[in-house]
Amino acid sequence: MKTLILGGTREARELAAIAAGEQGFDIVSSLAGRVRDPLLPVGAVRVGGFGGVEGLREWLVANEIEAVVDATHPFAGVISANAAAAAADLPLVHLRRPGWSEQSGDQWIRVPDLITAAKTVDEQGDRVFLTIGRQGVGAFAELTRPWFLIRAIDPPEGALPPQHELLLARGPFAVDDETRLLTDRRIDLLVTKNSGGDQTDAKLSAARSAGLPVVMIDRPPLPEGAVVMESVAQAWDWLRSVAQ
Ligand code: NAP
Repeated sequence: MKTLILGGTREARELAAIAAGEQGFDIVSSLAGRVRDPLLPVGAVRVGGFGGVEGLREWLVANEIEAVVDATHPFAGVISANAAAAAADLPLVHLRRPGWSEQSGDQWIRVPDLITAAKTVDEQGDRVFLTIGRQGVGAFAELTRPWFLIRAIDPPEGALPPQHELLLARGPFAVDDETRLLTDRRIDLLVTKNSGGDQTDAKLSAARSAGLPVVMIDRPPLPEGAVVMESVAQAWDWLRSVAQ
């Protein structure tokens, strides 16, 4: 079964690795091409945007795709909506790892989007650890008062807040290292997207132990009527059932 996996996540790579070894599956993984040196899935990979809903629809037809797994990052809302529109006539599932939830001792300030996160930082942060990845940092660029430690895999493009240190690093991160970072940089506020997963959650444990507030940006909604799988195993079961 010719299957498109919209990727850019660990789950997408894991699913591609499972399917690649199975008879009857012909998998193509797609990456947006944002990261300079991406971790590549096994098997066929294409890189770059499709050109909106219409471009994706044409690509699906031209490549005789029979099923689509949207395994993109929970904050990649545009491509998920595009997939739902373009693959409306195909079996389609969204693979989304569960979000993090607040635990005892956490001091989360939940916000719906980057703009509200920036407003909250302006009101409450002096020394801010901004761990939202490379995209979206521009929403904080006009905040001249707080100091930022900005961590991302690749350097963010566009304007940055004037007072900052840029730390280029790729997870997973350990709690001890995150704790050291909070202490060394005298952080008083952490900002993160609710990405979920165990690769980047050490910062939450470190913030909890240090008694620091966390601005937690909620996920954008999935397309209406989306069929969601929370694990790679579930998505793989679904793919096999579609292939039968
Ligand atoms: P987005 O806002 O949802 O998508 C913007 C555009 O990028 C889409 O319209 C599409 O271009 C292209 N695109 C996105 N994902 C693609 C994919 N897997 N294959 C081909 N084209 C893709 O996405 P984003 O937030 O910029 O994220 C881009 C990629 O980075 C995603 O694949 C995601 O899994 C990964 N990622 C994102 C985050 C994050 O925080 N947003 C974090 C980690 C990884 P066209 O309209 O031209 O098709």
